Amino acid sequence: MPGCKRLLVLFLMCISATAWVSSAQAETRVVILGTGTPTPVADRSGPGVAVVVNGAAYVFDAGGGMVEKAVEASVKMGIRELNPQDIKYLFLTHLHSDHIHDIGELASSRWWSRPQRLAIYGPKGIARYTQLMNEAAQIEADIRTVGTPAQLITDREGYLATATEIEEGLVFENADIKVEAFTVPHGEIRPSFGYRVTTADKTIVISGDTAFSEELAEMAKGVDILIHEVMSGDKLASQSEFWQLYHGASHTSATDVGRIANIARPGVVVLYHILFFDATADEIVAEAKRVYDGNVILANDLDVF
Ligand SMILES: [Zn+2]
Ligand SMILES: [Zn+2]
Repeated sequence: MPGCKRLLVLFLMCISATAWVSSAQAETRVVILGTGTPTPVADRSGPGVAVVVNGAAYVFDAGGGMVEKAVEASVKMGIRELNPQDIKYLFLTHLHSDHIHDIGELASSRWWSRPQRLAIYGPKGIARYTQLMNEAAQIEADIRTVGTPAQLITDREGYLATATEIEEGLVFENADIKVEAFTVPHGEIRPSFGYRVTTADKTIVISGDTAFSEELAEMAKGVDILIHEVMSGDKLASQSEFWQLYHGASHTSATDVGRIANIARPGVVVLYHILFFDATADEIVAEAKRVYDGNVILANDLDVF
C-alpha cells in the first residue's frame, strides 16, 4: 500500500533527523577536561578544554589524563564528539609538559580506524615535536598492522598527526567556529598563547598559562565565558621568595583574575589550572570576589558550560 509506505518513510526520516539533532547539537558546549597543573592530583587531570559545536570537538591543550576525561564525557555523559578517535582538532597554548602529555594518546587512540588524523595547532616547536612523536608511533603501527586483519584498518597511517605552527591572529575558521590566538606573558616561555573562540552562540576566552595580562582582558571584553588559570595569592605569600618570584611572573593570583574580570565583564569566570598551594576552592573564589562582584566558578574536571 503506497500510502502506508509513504508514512513509514516519513516516520523513518523523522527518527533519523531526531538522532542527528541529539548527536550533533547546534548549541555550543564547553567541557572542562582538566583543571590541574604539573603537580599530579588524583581528581584533576592536566589542563584541557573542549568546545563542542555542531558535531565536532575543538580541544585546547592536552594535559595528562585529559583523554581519559574525554572518554568519560563521551561514554558516561553522552557527549559523543569527545570519543578520542573522533577528535580532529587540537590547539596548544604552549609546550610545557602539563599541556602536552596526552597529545600522543589523543593522536593514536584507535588510530587504525580514525575517521580523520589529528590536526595540531601550536607555537614554534610543535612541528618537530609532532614529527618525532609520529616517528615513535610508527614502531607500534608497524607491529599492529602485521597482526591486524587488513579489513579492520581503514587508514594505514591514521596515527600520523599534522602540525601547524601558529602566530598571533586568526588560526582557524570554518562555518561553525573561529579560533584566534593572542600572546600572553608566561615567564620566559615565548610565545605562549591564549585563545578567543567564537561560535554562532558563544564567545569564549581561554587564558592558557599567563601572568596578569591587560591584553587578555581586552580580548575577553564581553565574552560569555572567560576560562582563566588561577593561583591563591594569599597562600603564595607564604611560599619562599624563589617561588613568589617564579609564580608571580608566570601565573595569575585570584585577585588579579578578579581585576581582569572587572575590565572584561564576562558572563562567567571559570577558574582552571588551579595552583591551590593549601587554599580551599572556596577561599580562591573568595579571593577573586574581593575585587569582582560577578559570577566566578572554580571548575572541576568534566564541568560543562
Ligand atoms: Zn601549566
Ligand atoms: Zn606553563
